This record gives sequence, C-alpha cells and structure tokens, in this order.
Amino acid sequence: MNNKIVILGGGESGVGSAVLAKQKGFDVFLSDYGSVKEEYAKILNKHNIRWEEKQHTQKEILASSEIIKSPGIPDTVPVIVAAKELDIPVISEIEFAARYTDAHMICITGSNGKTTTTTMVYNLLKEAGCNIGLAGNIGKSFAYQVATESFDYYVLELSSFQLDGMFHFKANTAILLNITPDHLDRYHDNFQEYIDSKFRILQNQSADDNFIFCDDDPVILSELEKRKIEANQLPFSTEHSLEKGSYLEQDNIIFKPIKEAFSMSIHDLGVKGKHNIYNSMAAGLAASINSIRKNVIRESLMDFKSIEHRLEPVIKVRNIMFINDSKATNVNSTWYALESMNKNVIWIAGGVDKGNDYDELSKLVKSKVKAIICLGLDSHKLHDSFDGMIKEIIDVKSMRDAVKTAYMLGKDGDTVLLSPACASFDLFDNYEDRGIQFKEAVRHL
Ligand code: ADP
Repeated sequence: MNNKIVILGGGESGVGSAVLAKQKGFDVFLSDYGSVKEEYAKILNKHNIRWEEKQHTQKEILASSEIIKSPGIPDTVPVIVAAKELDIPVISEIEFAARYTDAHMICITGSNGKTTTTTMVYNLLKEAGCNIGLAGNIGKSFAYQVATESFDYYVLELSSFQLDGMFHFKANTAILLNITPDHLDRYHDNFQEYIDSKFRILQNQSADDNFIFCDDDPVILSELEKRKIEANQLPFSTEHSLEKGSYLEQDNIIFKPIKEAFSMSIHDLGVKGKHNIYNSMAAGLAASINSIRKNVIRESLMDFKSIEHRLEPVIKVRNIMFINDSKATNVNSTWYALESMNKNVIWIAGGVDKGNDYDELSKLVKSKVKAIICLGLDSHKLHDSFDGMIKEIIDVKSMRDAVKTAYMLGKDGDTVLLSPACASFDLFDNYEDRGIQFKEAVRHL
C-alpha cells in the first residue's frame, strides 16, 4: 500500500483534510471538479499541497491508497465509480480525522434540528468550562481542528452524507433527533437507504456509550425494533413519561439521565416551539451524562437564542411581526414552524420542491394561515394543495415582491413567516442568501 491520499472537493472539509493528511506525512493530492475559492487555494499553497481544479485527473486519483470525498459529491460520479471498482476505500473527512484524536465525541444527526442541537450542546459544555470543539457541518472543519487544536471533547453535526463515509468511527454519545424523508434523490428514492444512513451514527458503539433518540418518532421506533442496540439508551418524548431519558410533565421538562432527576419549565427555554423542546431535551441529556451540573444546563438553555435563518424574529413593522425561517427546506421543518405560530399567519412558501407532500400541513394551514405567498418559479404544487382552502394565494417571483405583498395583506397583530419547505436554488444562491434577502426587504419597508 502506498502513502498517497487523494482528497476530492476543495471546500472546508477537503482543505482541512489535506492539511491534516500533510501534517501526518502522507503524499497528498486534492482535486476539485469546480473551482477552488481563493482563501482555500492560499491554504493549500501555504502547506505545499498539490492540487487541481476544474478537472479530475483520473490517473492521479486512482493511484491513491485512500480517497477522502467531500459529502457534496455523490457516489455516482465517474471517478468514484472507478475508485470503487479498484477497491480504493472512499471515506469522509470525519472518518479520517477521527483517527488522529482521542477526544470524547458527541455526535448529532437527524433530518431537522442538527445545527440547533449541536450549537446547544456546544454552548452547554463550553459554559461548563469544558475544552470543546464544534465541527461537522458547522464552522471550521473537524480535520483542520484536529490538525491545529487539542480539544478534550468534540460536538459534531453529522449529515447522512458524512455518515455514509464513516466505518470505524465511534460516537461516545450519539443523538438521533428525527427521521423524515429528505435528500431521497441521493438514496435512489429509497427511504430505507436514508434511514440506514442515519442509523450509522450507532455503528461501533458499545455498552459504555450513550444513544439519545426521539421516542415519538415512528420511523426511529420501527427501525429500533429491528436492531440490537449495545449503547445505553436515553429516549426523549413530549407525549409520554419515561423511566429514563427526558419527558414532559405538564409544562416542565423532566431530565432523568440516570437516577437523579431535575426539571425546568418549557417557558424558561430561550427558544420557542415544540421542535425546540425536543432539541433542548436531547442537548440537556447529552450534557448531563457528560457530568454537566443541572444549574448550568438550565441557565444555558434559558440563554440560548435562535440561530440565524431558523425561526429568527426579524422586526415588527406596523405591529406585523416578520420571522425568517429560510432554513426550513422540507415540509417537516415548516410543520414545526407553523405549529409554533398563533393565528393570522401570512406564509411565504415555495422554491425547489424535493417531492413535497403538503397534505401534512393542511390542518395547521387551515387553522393558522390567512394568506399564502408562493415564492418560486413553479408553484403549481402549492396551488394544487391549498387552492380552495385559503382565499388569498398569490404568486411572486422575487423576495421584494413577496415581502411587499405580505405587508399589504398584513393587519395589526399578524405574523409574516418565511418558511419555504423547499430548497432555494431557483431564485437564490442558497438558504442563507434567501434569508438575507428577506431581512433586507423587510428593513426596506
Ligand atoms: P439542520 O441542521 O438539521 O438542517 P437546523 O437546526 O438548521 O437543522 O434547523 C432547520 C430547520 O428545521 C429550521 O427551520 C428549524 O426551525 C427546524 N427545526 C429545528 N429543530 C427541529 C426539529 N427537532 N424538528 C423539526 N424541525 C426542526
């Protein structure tokens, strides 16, 4: 076996992997089929790492002993197909970097709520004085931090694409928030394949490890029936009490990680909505099994503020509240957004539909929404689902028009909610761009 590692994708995780691999003495080559941003090119050059852009030189790539693939690259691209035919292992940045740290790993996955819960766990441990790094889909890459820092703990946000490239990695604490259909285009339209991918968060766990999961999620529960779980199980639920884990008693969250229980009121949580009760339960359990004191947990969950683009309150204009939930790119996240609203919502929805089934939203839409503004190039599915149910359904093709129209329809006490349930690529660069344009348009009213 030679000493050559090839990295595919020159973004945050690829460049971090390249720096770490170089530091560990590998012969490193990075290849990106698109262009590499200037800031990343500079890092690669500074570390004397060979790289190419706008092409994949197969001869060079297939001469490697291992390939680290960016989670954005599907398995179907020709160079990956060729590598697999030659039995070259293809792994993710997380799998690679974990070989070089003994830190305690707290890992979070799920279809929705990963960033929120990961940030909650990070704040909780940081505020308790732990030497902890935050990585995965957030901020600086895990590999770069492993190369340049020496943390005792990491909290990692893991997408299914990252999990697909993980084999020997072990999470000491694994959190599985929920599983609803998403990204099925990458899983041959097969929901089970996506479920299997999410459950990879449990692989290699033993009885010393912990598994925190939502006990109200039917998909997780039916999958658990099929599997033997080695780790200590800590379920959480808003629907029933539990002997161990976290649950609701009226308006109090009970945390029962081991024997001694403690509680806090849902009204004291810094972020609102049923989904954030779940996220807080998961984060609080993870913190308490990692020896964080109950007072620190309570205070940190009280102080937690919503993250940008996730049910982010923007401003009130003429007593109409504007809320930016641009990160809601699937129906389930929008369900929780609507669930957390009072009546009289003007709902801005639409974009690139990933096979949405809007029927799940009908009940909430009927009881809470007074108008729908369809923002996107193709809004026929929203019309098919809600024409006749809601009087005002208006099509617009720009964020400015969406906000202006919402404002014209708005009355004292109404809420304008941007929660698209769709991806953003028809009109925007990404969900961040969509949220920023929303906030700008609101501030220009
Ligand atoms: P992810 O990183 O998994 O995409 P985020 O924390 O960025 O999750 O939130 C994405 C969207 O999902 C936001 O609209 C947010 O309000 C919503 N959301 C957050 N937590 C949950 C949850 N537990 N269940 C469903 N939706 C959630």
